[in-house]
Amino acid sequence: MAHPVDAGGSWASRAAERLAAAGYRLGGARAAVLDLLDEQPCALTAYEIEAALRGRGRAVGRASVYRVLDELDELGLVTRVELGQSQARYEPARPDHHHHHLVCERCGAVVPFDDAGLERAIDALSRRADFDVHGHDIVLRGACAACRGSLS
Ligand SMILES: [Zn+2]
Ligand SMILES: [Zn+2]
Repeated sequence: MAHPVDAGGSWASRAAERLAAAGYRLGGARAAVLDLLDEQPCALTAYEIEAALRGRGRAVGRASVYRVLDELDELGLVTRVELGQSQARYEPARPDHHHHHLVCERCGAVVPFDDAGLERAIDALSRRADFDVHGHDIVLRGACAACRGSLS
């Protein structure tokens, strides 16, 4: 039995192991979604996943994309990112990596960021509040440089 946290391998190979351990066969749809998500710097919607897979000749139907995302979500392998947009986004849950999001309210662009000072401030706040904080999501909304530039 493989150890659940293999410090080596990619996120996709760890996710494939966890899916197999949960009784899922790694068919073409699951493998295609895992490979695609593993390459992303940030979260994608199911629609974007479907379009990207079609673009690389690994077409997977929308229903299958949703099913695979549900499986991954249930196993804690992806993070569901709610940015107040019409569709949820999903990104690989990586224990060693953590980021937050800037969202453009005009074009919908999503930009990942991380900031050590922000993380330290949250740690300090949780101590001050005597609260055992297990997680946090930070979304900053506004206008991206391209949209600001297009304003007259
Ligand atoms: Zn992200
Ligand atoms: Zn924008």
